[in-house]
Amino acid sequence: MADTPQETLANLLSEDRTFPPSPEFTQAANVTAAAYDEAAADRLAFWEAQARRLDWAKDWDRVLDWDNPPFAKWFTGGELNVSANCLDRHVANGLGDRVAIHFEGEPGDTRAVTYAELLDEVKRAANALTDLGVGAGDRVVIYMPMIPEAAVAMLACARIGAPHSVVFGGFSANALSSRIDDAGAKLVICADGGFRKGKAFALKPTVDEALESCPSVEQVLVVTRTGQEVAWNERDVKWEDAVGGASNEHEAQPFDAEHPLFILYTSGTTGKPKGILHTSGGYLTQASFTHHAVFDLKPETDVYWCTADIGWVTGHSYIVYGPMSNGATQVMYEGTPDTPHTGRFWEIVQKYGVTILYTAPTAIRTFMKWGDDVPAQYDLSSLRVLGSVGEPINPEAWVWYREHIGGGNTPVVDTWWQTETGAIMVSPLPGVTSTKPGSAQRPLPGISVDVVDEQGESVPDGGGGFLVIREPWPSMLRTIWGDDQRFLDTYWAHFDGMYFAGDGAKKDDDGDLWLLGRVDDIMLVSGHNISTTEVESALVSHATVAEAAVVGASDPVTGQGIVAFVILRGQSESSPEHLAELRAHVAKTLGAIAKPRQVIIVAELPKTRSGKIMRRLLRDIAEDREIGDVTTLADNTVMSRIKTGLQGGK
Ligand code: ATP
Ligand code: MG
Repeated sequence: MADTPQETLANLLSEDRTFPPSPEFTQAANVTAAAYDEAAADRLAFWEAQARRLDWAKDWDRVLDWDNPPFAKWFTGGELNVSANCLDRHVANGLGDRVAIHFEGEPGDTRAVTYAELLDEVKRAANALTDLGVGAGDRVVIYMPMIPEAAVAMLACARIGAPHSVVFGGFSANALSSRIDDAGAKLVICADGGFRKGKAFALKPTVDEALESCPSVEQVLVVTRTGQEVAWNERDVKWEDAVGGASNEHEAQPFDAEHPLFILYTSGTTGKPKGILHTSGGYLTQASFTHHAVFDLKPETDVYWCTADIGWVTGHSYIVYGPMSNGATQVMYEGTPDTPHTGRFWEIVQKYGVTILYTAPTAIRTFMKWGDDVPAQYDLSSLRVLGSVGEPINPEAWVWYREHIGGGNTPVVDTWWQTETGAIMVSPLPGVTSTKPGSAQRPLPGISVDVVDEQGESVPDGGGGFLVIREPWPSMLRTIWGDDQRFLDTYWAHFDGMYFAGDGAKKDDDGDLWLLGRVDDIMLVSGHNISTTEVESALVSHATVAEAAVVGASDPVTGQGIVAFVILRGQSESSPEHLAELRAHVAKTLGAIAKPRQVIIVAELPKTRSGKIMRRLLRDIAEDREIGDVTTLADNTVMSRIKTGLQGGK
């Protein structure tokens, strides 16, 4: 790996606030502390019991086949249909009238879709796909806005055993065509467009452009969402005709537990996206169990809302497969949090009585910036569990989330996982764990996550190093699509017999885990490895700071110097004294070694489409270099604005 720290991470940030669950929460919780003991006593028996939460057409012979590591097979010989587990069994159990999706379109149009209606639509879509010549094993690319048809398309593919590859609806023609090509897709399902920031945007023209270089695609199935004018080609088929006209009789066939369910390309924060392959039985077992355990979902009474896009793994595991396998009622929102006003999320929580909310630190920091008075205008008292995913959550943002969104009494679960892990790996359990702001805390029952040094030795409590996974887990990636060698090199070549996640982490004195960002982002200052996350969290703990991104820029004296890019909160203004105060604040919080060489105030930060800060681009600015590849940026003009702002300010 490029930037391997020569010594373990300096352990700078300390946090002693803890929030135990209320006795009432604990008493009613889905999962108790006993789960840790059961899993520790017999990990495979534990996962076998979780697999029994699903309906299997045929039992497995072996729980885990690890004869050819790191190529795992789970529940071998078992057969199930993933779509039937998410739909048919609920309807058969008399739950057909339960709302599966409360859809909220950005312009304000709404739809409530029951499980019976969703099943009906998925059966029609499965028949339509079959009529279009799609069969088991054929890949289907889905390029859609956040509308119920996106979930229908995924579940219809799963139903007929055609692996889907969802590509985020904001990606360019280039990004789309490279993913279509890599997956060798036969069919693309898209919409004419969607609504975002108060306007209709187009998707179909991007598909047309992408397909100029994708010979594998035979047909395109187009959902009408906006009704905008679109060019029509011979290969195009209207969803409303094909699906609307298809029969709603469809018997789901079981597939092997290891049948491919989907390929999903990683967010591309660090480089060229990897086509992560997930299969059926183990994936659904862990997505379903973790959703039940970490969010404490009570399907009869809860209203769940995950704000991720379906184009990310969070949308796969915690909008479609986890919640639906558990029979959840959920909100699906098409648009952005500030359309038509900055209270839109809280208006939705109030309107539907959302009880469980799962969102990302980038969103939480944005809400902090918009001000406490925005959520204060809404009744958020229905909320009982709050989740976070995507990046380390700064302790200050965690506390703000609990106070201003959770009314000071909801558990906050910081969930660490990756596209590759398929499902949550490290997280508090809301009825068991005394939560700690900024820490993802413990591996879930049945998961062997550890922090090791360069030699692969487990670090003691108080130490820092590399996050690894010691034992195979049910929803683990099976390979990188079409590239077993890259799978081996990327994840298994660093430490003997262990999966290397690419993230740095530390264990605090209680043994709780703290994620410290990508190993590639770790800074080496005067011989000390310092995590960007800790310096960022120290900055965010200053009352005037909303968001911070920190990089190490080469420095003739110290090796690397810390350069911080900071977005201010609300209306606050900066001055040379203020900048000095921010630098001093970091030194006071973390020690003099972590004092930034330079603090630069910016209006925005470069982020991926999934909202993660792309530090490597800021490093280019800090080192005054040509800016690198910006194709996965949400807005690829942001870098030139940051640069111009800097020059203007000089
Ligand atoms: P690429 O692998 O292409 O660079 P990516 O890693 O951003 O993209 P994802 O799989 O979407 O793609 O993100 C997983 C990564 O997100 C983790 O490896 C970690 O760095 C970060 N992450 C996710 N959740 C958390 C969390 N709760 N705490 C800290 N980091 C997190
Ligand atoms: Mg990654």
